[in-house]
Amino acid sequence: MPEYDPHAITVEQAQAIIGLCIQPLHFTEQLPLRQALGRVLAEDIISTMNVPAHDNSAMDGFAFRGADLPAGQDRQLRIVGTALAGRAYQGQINQGECIRITTGAVMPVDCDTVVPQELITASSDSHVTIPGGKLRAGDNRRLKGEDLVMGKTVISKGRILKPADLGLLASLAIAEVAVQRRLRVAFFSTGDELRSLGEALDEGCVYDSNRYTLFGMLTRLGCEVIDMGVVKDNPDALEAGLRQACESADAIITSGGVSAGAADYTREVMAKLGQVAFWSVAMRPGRPLAFGQIASNGKSAYLFGLPGNPVAVMVSFYFFARQALYRLMGADVPALPLIPIAAAETIRKRPGRTEFQRGILASTENGELRVSVTGSQGSGILRSMSEANCMIVLQHDQTTVLPGEKVHVLLFDGLL
Ligand code: AMP
Ligand code: MG
Repeated sequence: MPEYDPHAITVEQAQAIIGLCIQPLHFTEQLPLRQALGRVLAEDIISTMNVPAHDNSAMDGFAFRGADLPAGQDRQLRIVGTALAGRAYQGQINQGECIRITTGAVMPVDCDTVVPQELITASSDSHVTIPGGKLRAGDNRRLKGEDLVMGKTVISKGRILKPADLGLLASLAIAEVAVQRRLRVAFFSTGDELRSLGEALDEGCVYDSNRYTLFGMLTRLGCEVIDMGVVKDNPDALEAGLRQACESADAIITSGGVSAGAADYTREVMAKLGQVAFWSVAMRPGRPLAFGQIASNGKSAYLFGLPGNPVAVMVSFYFFARQALYRLMGADVPALPLIPIAAAETIRKRPGRTEFQRGILASTENGELRVSVTGSQGSGILRSMSEANCMIVLQHDQTTVLPGEKVHVLLFDGLL
């Protein structure tokens, strides 16, 4: 690991260190095309053919030789046949002749231009009149290979397959692809005060919500989740939980118990099982963070020890774990896009830490986008995440933001 001060690490430093430590896993499986949606492609797809395979018409109309195009006045051409999509015209087409053609029909070798039906000025069963000055040679013709060229890479390894990708693969007759197997992520919550759904809420206790937000976030990332429940604030229970998680998963996410001093045996146990760094990240919410790798019975797993507060869990998941898990699953996913948007109001901010405030992006009466905060920003106020449609990311050195000043916004749509 590069040099850093674990007491005052910035968000960017933590992200960089995590990025350096994670090595992508290579476990692949072969899947039928439909099942591959949302999965990480494990091979480069090279086009084995040109798509389209032939020059073809982009319009319904008449195909003819570009040399026959009239310069000024209209010109009459003789209709000698028809080409339909899937049924090519076999004959020859000479000067002054044309054929009827439909969209997608193969262009006869003699022709390079199509006059669309709606541009013709007169027609009979035997002749059609094309307008002067409206077309150029080559118009309304789709070229062979203009979508996919034989021998070229169509989709690179690491792509998370989207609907358009399934379509592209189908257009190449590829019925099965190699994808990475789903990443297995085990998670548990720590805390004597936590109760699971179905249990009675004893005095001073809270229901465990982190396992539900984690379930949601991991599932959206395409992971196979292993929910291990609540683990008590007890070193033996914690060690047993971590070992079991390590033996069954590629990565482990815990929440709670990583703050300095609060539960020191958490650090001890994590450190006993592997190499784990405990950071105080200059951010809010989500200051404490543990990251590393542990091993048990010859198996190893990456470990993310997230703080316990429900908003801090989500923020640290999105800004640290998400990119790391994508990297682990071999996915080539760009960093989250931050969009500059004008603040609708004053947003208080202290320099020296990155702040992640929950925001609402809305358009004003003039149609301009403005962002405001959701109200109380306490790290235990999960409602702020539920109500927000974006995160306002206030950079490390940034100070209080005045109305109209631009701030960085991360849209939840597509993320949450
Ligand atoms: P900790 O990081 O363990 O000190 O927890 C910080 C705060 O988050 C405490 O108020 C905990 O009760 C709360 N908390 C921890 N884990 C959970 C959880 N799984 N669900 C809801 N709240 C939690
Ligand atoms: Mg705790």
